[in-house]
Amino acid sequence: MKLDPIATLQLQLARLPGIGPRSAARLAFYIIKTSQAQGKNANLAEDLAQSLLDVQKEVRLCRECQNLCTEEYCSICRDPRRDQSTLCVVEAVPDMQALEKSGTFRGLYHVLHGVLAPLEGVGPEELKLEYLLDRTKNKSVEEVIIATNANVDGDATALYLASLLEPQELRITRLAMGVPLGSELEYLDSATLSRALLERKDMVNT
Ligand SMILES: [Zn+2]
Repeated sequence: MKLDPIATLQLQLARLPGIGPRSAARLAFYIIKTSQAQGKNANLAEDLAQSLLDVQKEVRLCRECQNLCTEEYCSICRDPRRDQSTLCVVEAVPDMQALEKSGTFRGLYHVLHGVLAPLEGVGPEELKLEYLLDRTKNKSVEEVIIATNANVDGDATALYLASLLEPQELRITRLAMGVPLGSELEYLDSATLSRALLERKDMVNT
């Protein structure tokens, strides 16, 4: 038996984060309505479907920093003008984009794609921390700026990372105050982020 396509679309949309059944229904009906009408959104369903297939096919992780990109290495890793000696560790790609927008940071990044959450089964292996350690060991990295979010999970991850990196005798820093407690980088304005970077604090006394 074939499932009702309207119900199926609602179910698929409800799988997205932050979308409950009511929002899913509203979005589904909007897509259906505009796709049957004339106007600027007439091709919405087709464009959306194509876009979803394109990202699935073309987007991958940068081999160096785990950023999302369409080539083997992302544009930041490929840029020879970036400072190879500083590595900024972030939880997610939007955090990296926020830092890039602030224009203060000229080094390289490392994207964790999460934070440590042992109760949810996210440990050092899931975050591929070994790979990060290899990266700092083998490249000419002198400072690691840990820019995980200023909340409980972000702080716990930062402390764990600092302890892992400590034997490598690097400068290990954390974004300074100015990042309000509990806040997520992605939503901070550029001026606040710039200040947090410039006033970053050493996590380990070397
Ligand atoms: Zn990269």
